[in-house]
Amino acid sequence: PFDVLVVGGGPAGAAAAIYAARKGIRTGVVAERFGGQVLDTMGIENFISIQHTEGPKLAAQLEQHVKEYDVDVMNLQRATGLVPAGDDGLHEVKLENGASLKAKTLILSTGARWRQMGVPGEDEYRNKGVAYCPHCDGPLFKGKRTAVIGGGNSGVEAAIDLAGIVAHVTLIEFDNQLRADAVLQTKLRSLPNVTIVTSALTTEVLGDGAKVTGLVYKDRETGQTHTVELEGIFVQIGLVPNTEWLKGAIDLSPRGEIEVDARGATSVPGVFGAGDATTVPYKQIVIAMGEGSKAALSAFDYLIRQG
Ligand code: FAD
Repeated sequence: PFDVLVVGGGPAGAAAAIYAARKGIRTGVVAERFGGQVLDTMGIENFISIQHTEGPKLAAQLEQHVKEYDVDVMNLQRATGLVPAGDDGLHEVKLENGASLKAKTLILSTGARWRQMGVPGEDEYRNKGVAYCPHCDGPLFKGKRTAVIGGGNSGVEAAIDLAGIVAHVTLIEFDNQLRADAVLQTKLRSLPNVTIVTSALTTEVLGDGAKVTGLVYKDRETGQTHTVELEGIFVQIGLVPNTEWLKGAIDLSPRGEIEVDARGATSVPGVFGAGDATTVPYKQIVIAMGEGSKAALSAFDYLIRQG
C-alpha cells in the first residue's frame, strides 16, 4: 500500500506528490488526465515569478517535476469510488478499470470543470475570446467589448471586475432578474460601462474563424434574437467540482465541494483534500499548488502520529 495516494494530477495533485515524495514516503498519483485544467489553458500570466507561460508547457513541467522523484504515476485512470479505512487502517480507491488501490492516507485533488453554455461556437472559440476565468484572462481584453454570461454572484463579480479593465460589459442573465447578492447588484448598476440584459438565452458565439466577433441571444419574452458585437465572452454559469465519485464517503458542501479545514483535512481521518475540488475559495493555479503542498504536509504529520 501507499503511504500517500494522490487522486488527481493537476497543480494541486502535482504539488502534493512532490511534497510527499520529498519526505521519503511511498507516494502514488492516480489521474484521469495528468495536467488537469492547465492543459486547456493558453496564456498563463499570474503564475507568480513566471511572467508568461502556456498551459501545455506548464503541464509538461509539472509532470517532469513529479517524475524527478520516486512517485508512482498512474495516468489515464479514473477513480470511481472511495472506501474509507476500516480496521486495517487502509483507505481504498476503486478505479474504473476494476482495480483498486490502497493507502494509509489520501489526498483528493480531482479539481473542477466550468459549466459550459453548450451553444454553437463555444468550443471553437474557447481561448479565442471565450473565457471562463476573469482573474486569469480579464487583462487580455483591456479596452475591448466583452459579455459575461450569468447573473449569479460569480457573474456579477466578474462583470464588476471586468468593467474596470475593459471598454464595455454586457451582462446576460437567463432568468428575469439577477440572482447575485443585492450589494453586488447595486455596485454593478452604478457602473457606467455595463449593460444588463435579463430574460436572455445565449444561442450562439459568433467569430471570424480566428476569434470571437459577437454573440447572439434570444429575448425570452419577445422571442426576438439580438446580436451583440464584442471581442470577449466570460461564461460564469457555474464551476462544478469533480466529486461525484465521493458522495456518501466524505462530507461535501451543498455545491459538492470537499469540505476541508485549514490543514486540508476532510471529515475522514487520514483523508485530505486540495485545490478546485474543495471548499477553499478562489480557484487558481498558485492556490491549488499551495493547498496541495499543505495537504501533503498534513498527511505526513498524520502518518508520523500513527506510530
Ligand atoms: P485540475 O487542474 O482540475 O486537476 C484535476 C485532476 O484530477 C486532473 O488530473 C483530472 O484528470 C483529475 N481527475 C478528475 N476526476 C478524476 C477521477 N474521478 N479520477 C482520477 N482523476 C480525476 N488559473 C490560474 O491561476 N491562471 C490562469 O491563467 C488560469 N487560466 C485558466 C483557463 C482555463 C480555460 C481554465 C479551465 C482554468 C484556468 N485556471 C487558471 C484555473 C486553474 O487551471 C485551476 O484553478 C487549477 O488547474 C486547479 O488545479 P487542481 O489541481 O485543483 O484541479
